[in-house]
Amino acid sequence: MSSEYRMLINGELCEASTKETMQVINPANGTVVGHAPKCGSEEVNRAAEAAYKAAPAWAEKSPTDKAAIFFKMAELLRKHREEWAKLETMQYGGPIFKTMNFDMVFDAEHFEFMAGVGRAVTGKSLPVGPQALSMTIRQPLGVVGLITPWNFPLVTAISKITPALMMGNTAVVKPASCAPLTVLKLGELAIEAGFPPGVLNIVSGPGASAGEAIVNHPYISKINFTGDSETGKRILALASAAVKPVACELGGKNAFIVMPDADMKAAVEGAVWGGFFNSGQNCGASSRYLIHDSVYDEFAEKFVEATKQLRVGDPLNPETMVGPVAYKGHRDGIERFVERAKKSDAKLLLGGERPETPETKNGYFVAPTIFGDCDPKSEIMQEEVFGPVVALAKFKTPEEAVAIANDSRFGLCASIWTRDIRQGLVMTKQLKVGTVWLNQHLSIVFECPWGGCKESGHSKENSIMVLDEYSMMKNVWIDLVGTPATPWEGKFD
Ligand code: NDP
Repeated sequence: MSSEYRMLINGELCEASTKETMQVINPANGTVVGHAPKCGSEEVNRAAEAAYKAAPAWAEKSPTDKAAIFFKMAELLRKHREEWAKLETMQYGGPIFKTMNFDMVFDAEHFEFMAGVGRAVTGKSLPVGPQALSMTIRQPLGVVGLITPWNFPLVTAISKITPALMMGNTAVVKPASCAPLTVLKLGELAIEAGFPPGVLNIVSGPGASAGEAIVNHPYISKINFTGDSETGKRILALASAAVKPVACELGGKNAFIVMPDADMKAAVEGAVWGGFFNSGQNCGASSRYLIHDSVYDEFAEKFVEATKQLRVGDPLNPETMVGPVAYKGHRDGIERFVERAKKSDAKLLLGGERPETPETKNGYFVAPTIFGDCDPKSEIMQEEVFGPVVALAKFKTPEEAVAIANDSRFGLCASIWTRDIRQGLVMTKQLKVGTVWLNQHLSIVFECPWGGCKESGHSKENSIMVLDEYSMMKNVWIDLVGTPATPWEGKFD
């Protein structure tokens, strides 16, 4: 694999016109992994123009022909699986067991899933009476701007690129600046797989300049954004000036509710996975644990003991379960959350400091950290830390658990751990979130829609529902009578 990272604009790989680059640092050891072009509005403009020109022909391409290119992309991603998984791990610290077995597998399968789903898209006919036939046809939006975060760099980009292109749109993609390398590499595969020039454009550059240039560009009809809730608000505000639609997948502070009858072994295992997978850098991470009073002590003790067994260290070691967090500034921000929580009434049950081992000493690591006896209103229970730091609180009744869970500005997901499925379903209906898992946490698959409410955003990723984000329904009315049928009929003879 070449270690050059270039943008894809109009079917050509290119640098920034200023030749400026951004360093990408390996958070496991502080070394430089590579340099990405640092583009500004000039390149965004070129990318948007190329996408705009390519849009009409791509929109007319048959689903079968588009699917053929998608299958080629999947094949190429599988061919590069090991080296790309390694690159993904090195640029943002996700352990290799994750990047090999989740990210790279999802990446290839996403192209295949959308190749199939996109070929089964239909419109509808509408019952308007005998005088006409009315129908809806699904049409592309034109050029879409796709702005993505660093916690699943390639997966998030691909989960937007595939429905966008399959629905006949062209795209300008901008990955996060701290981990843009695999998404830039995707540009090379797009050329090899045969995407016509301009259909897929990938630029890298700072959110405040390149990102906002995408949001503001008049040729770009819609923005699909995944990232921080505050960034989402900024993008929504900018886009509103042009009444431009924005699909948002934003932050989360997700409740993990343990009822008195829960299978304790399963709940503890689910709690460790939900809280610490990907160092807790998941929008869907279980970061607020609401535990019934009667099982709180047992759960807390077993959760702490299980968490102690996580292997924290070099993310390229296949045995590592928790790697570093993505970059130094992020580590520093997490540590500030931890210090403030230590000064609150919460009880530190585990972690709370940097792990000091030969494997971690040069990287940006945070030890898996658990706070107990937390006040549901406290910062550690309300704000998204986006790291391996979780908080436990007690509740006495199902109603209280739901009230605490819903007392959040976020509404992404939640899980309920109980053997009483009826009780679980009653609570499911009451939770103000986009996904509820019963006896599971963090199961996210293509077949099921993903997306939240409140400050977690309002759009859907995955499943067939994602197609609505990238297409518009046009209504077509066909008169079957043959003569004008208005109340003014005959008045103009
Ligand atoms: P950010 O919001 O900081 O960045 C996301 C993307 O937006 C990056 O490409 C960034 O560019 C860009 N960006 C930043 N500012 C602007 C701007 N003013 N205009 C346009 N684009 C901009 O999020 P993170 O990368 O830190 O990702 C973490 C967040 O993402 C967490 O809150 C997490 O919960 C959320 N997330 C939500 C998911 C969901 O499905 N709900 C899934 C995954 C993550 P640059 O990197 O150059 O700043």
